[in-house]
Amino acid sequence: MNIQNYINGKFTPPFSNEWIDNYCPADGKVYGQIPNSSKADVENAYTAAKLAFPDWSKTTLETRSRILIKISELLEANLQRFAEAESKDNGKPINLAKTVDIPRAASNFRFFGNAITQFASESHESVGHNAINYTLRQPIGVVGCISPWNLPLYLFTWKIAPAIAAGNCVVAKPSEVTPITAYLLGEICTEAGLPNGVLNIVHGLGTTTGQAIVEHPDIKAISFTGGTATGAHIAKVAAPMFKKLSLELGGKNPNIIFADCDYNDMLETTVRSSFANQGQICLCGSRIFVEAPIYEKFKTDFVEKVKQLKVGHPSKEDTNIGALVSKPHLEKVMQYINIAKQENGTILYGGHKITIADYENGYYLEPTIIEVPTDECRVNQEEIFGPVVTIMPFNTEAEVLQIANKVKYGLSATLWTNDLKRTMRMSNKLQSGIVWVNTWMLRDLRTPFGGVKDSGMGREGGFEALRFFTEAKNVCIKY
Ligand code: NAD
Repeated sequence: MNIQNYINGKFTPPFSNEWIDNYCPADGKVYGQIPNSSKADVENAYTAAKLAFPDWSKTTLETRSRILIKISELLEANLQRFAEAESKDNGKPINLAKTVDIPRAASNFRFFGNAITQFASESHESVGHNAINYTLRQPIGVVGCISPWNLPLYLFTWKIAPAIAAGNCVVAKPSEVTPITAYLLGEICTEAGLPNGVLNIVHGLGTTTGQAIVEHPDIKAISFTGGTATGAHIAKVAAPMFKKLSLELGGKNPNIIFADCDYNDMLETTVRSSFANQGQICLCGSRIFVEAPIYEKFKTDFVEKVKQLKVGHPSKEDTNIGALVSKPHLEKVMQYINIAKQENGTILYGGHKITIADYENGYYLEPTIIEVPTDECRVNQEEIFGPVVTIMPFNTEAEVLQIANKVKYGLSATLWTNDLKRTMRMSNKLQSGIVWVNTWMLRDLRTPFGGVKDSGMGREGGFEALRFFTEAKNVCIKY
């Protein structure tokens, strides 16, 4: 399957005629090519966006809302096709793509289609001065959206939907590792009546295409999701141009389990929060801390449950764990399993590459549980982003709070307890942008989403996203 850029509503090849192979993680074979777009392609996309901006920014909220909701409906109508494409491109189980990725991408458009009709700005009366202030929330112009490979369409649309809802025009780049559903989205946008140039999708490597978007002097805001090192680089390039930046970066999230929790619910959810999407979700709880009295029981039960997970071809309905996204990524994750051994970690389960009949070159890995003797080891401090979790016991609330916070990341944390006061104390003190208590990945699109420390800067979601994609201008009128 050869894909093209989507610029000004048309599918176009890259000027340079440079192409990148696209691999299928399930069998390791090349199954298509994508453009490696250059500065010239990005300029072309920018020009289309710039020309579309005056009309789009003045399009009524009702019309914008109707188009966004239409995109959402078309995604739902094409659920099977999109889910198959996502599963093939990324290696994730088809069931996950069908129940999470594509429905959530559709709900991103529906949500922001509705949210823009409710978005309002402030007014401040300057009492005693006979003056009234009101705040205009104006779209920025042309904005850049850059997304990663783990939840390809879901995270791509999480940026694009609020950007266009707020009246901006977009130059967007999906990950070169998983470009297919972003490509298919172009067709849907045209069918939904999105005017040409409002959304432009350019494909290519981060270092060429992504870099060209970030360096473009007239793309005034960048919304980026990806690794922390890439985020730091983007910040360095964008800062001297005073671009607005939203950076959603890596994580190393603690999953803290107290003995008083609802045990079965916790166990079930912990299997999911550890290994869903092959552990390749920035919100996965990759560091599991268990209160000492239930530690041995948890260890036995958790290993037992994880043993039952079926690693298999992503297209099979009964597959729980599919293929990792790429060969380099599989190698990186396996390297961490070796590091764990060198660091005196005990592999309680997994640790090996799996060969699946007929798909011998696919990127399959056993779900892996490592018992670590201390939190101060690389596997407990560095983001692995694969089907690998560490576990260790703790004795007191103060102790677990300290080790939970002792990493450079701060994206999310999960807490399992029925003690209300402890919940309040811990939630206040955990250094993360999101705290889940007795649940994981429950999503309400109105809530702020993002991390602290090296997990990023800024918040997505709800009105936070609409604020990011607009500039506030205060108008002060004396009467
Ligand atoms: P990555 O940083 O390698 O790439 C992300 C995107 O940035 C890709 O589209 C890539 O092409 C592009 N890119 C790379 N170099 C660039 C440059 N110099 N200029 C502009 N763009 C560039 O990340 P990845 O490997 O695709 O994704 C995995 C990472 O994403 C993990 O660290 C994970 O935690 C993180 N992530 C974070 C969140 C969140 O919400 N915080 C969500 C999902 C994934």
